Amino acid sequence: MASKIIKTVRTVAELRTIIADWRKTGHKIILVPTMGALHEGHLSLVRLAKEIGDRVVVSIFVNPAQFAPNEDFGSYPRTFDGDLDKLHEISTDLVFAPPRDEVYPPDFSTHITVEGLSDGLCGTSRPHFFGGVATVVAKLLNQCRPDVAIFGDKDYQQLLVIRRMARDLDLGVEIVGGPIVREKDGLAMSSRNAYLTANERERAPQLHLTIEEIAEGLADGKSIKPLLDEGHARLKEAGFDVDYLEVRNAENLAPIDGQVQESARVFAAAMLGKTRLIDNVAVPGSNR
Ligand code: AMP
Repeated sequence: MASKIIKTVRTVAELRTIIADWRKTGHKIILVPTMGALHEGHLSLVRLAKEIGDRVVVSIFVNPAQFAPNEDFGSYPRTFDGDLDKLHEISTDLVFAPPRDEVYPPDFSTHITVEGLSDGLCGTSRPHFFGGVATVVAKLLNQCRPDVAIFGDKDYQQLLVIRRMARDLDLGVEIVGGPIVREKDGLAMSSRNAYLTANERERAPQLHLTIEEIAEGLADGKSIKPLLDEGHARLKEAGFDVDYLEVRNAENLAPIDGQVQESARVFAAAMLGKTRLIDNVAVPGSNR
C-alpha cells in the first residue's frame, strides 16, 4: 500500500499551490527529477538537495518521450510504493508524480533540441533521447520553478545538456551535479541493473573497472588509443557489446585525441545481454 505519510501531488496546480506557500516564507526550493525505481544513487541526490536547500521536491515520472519504440518504456521498473517509503525515510518534503496526460496533453506539440552537446556518445545510438529529456525537464523546471535542480554525474552528458538548456532558455535555475553512487564492486547504481541476470551481474563491474583503468593510464601520461583498444578487448572478453568507449573534454564533451592535457572524462556505454549500461569517470588530476 502506498505510504500515506509523504505528501504526493499529481497535478501542476497542486504543485504550484504548495510551492507558492513555501516561496512566501522564503524557502530555497530544490527539485530532484527521477523516473522512480529509486536506489541509493537517487537518494544521495535527495540528501544533497537537503543540504543545499530548505524544501525538496522529488518528481517521479517515467518519461515516454525519452524512449524509442524499441526500448524499454513498457518494462521499465515501476516501484512507486517502495519509492515513497524510501523518500519518507529521508524526509523528502514533496513528491510530484504526474500522470502522463498531465505532462503531455493529447495535442502536445513542442520539442526542445539542445544542439551539439546532444550529439555523440548516447546521442548517436539514442537520437531521440536528449530531446525527450530536455523537453520534460524544461517542463518540470517550469512547473516547479525551483532555485536549484540536481542531476547525477552518472548521466554526465544529460547533466551538461540540461545545464546548457537552462542557461540558453534563461530558466533561472542552477543545475547541480551529484557524484555517482556505486555498488561495492564498482557497478554504478541504476534502475536498469534490475534487468541483469545473476551471471551478467557478476560481469557488470567490468565496465567500471575498464574505464577506471583507462582513466588511470591517461593520468600516467599514456596515449588514448592503445588504452581504448585494450578497453574494447577487455569488455568484449567479458561479454559486452560496446556502444562507445571514449575520452572527452569534461566541460564541452569535445573528443580528445592523443594524450590528455585538459579536464577529461572517460565515457562508456555497452549492452550486457539485453541491458544497456552506461558509466563515466574523471581522469584523475584533470579538473572536473
Ligand atoms: P533516472 O531515474 O534514471 O532518470 O535518474 C534520476 C537522476 O538520478 C538522474 O539525474 C541520474 O543521473 C541520477 N542517478 C541515477 N543513478 C545514479 C547513481 N548511481 N549515482 C548518482 N546519481 C544517479
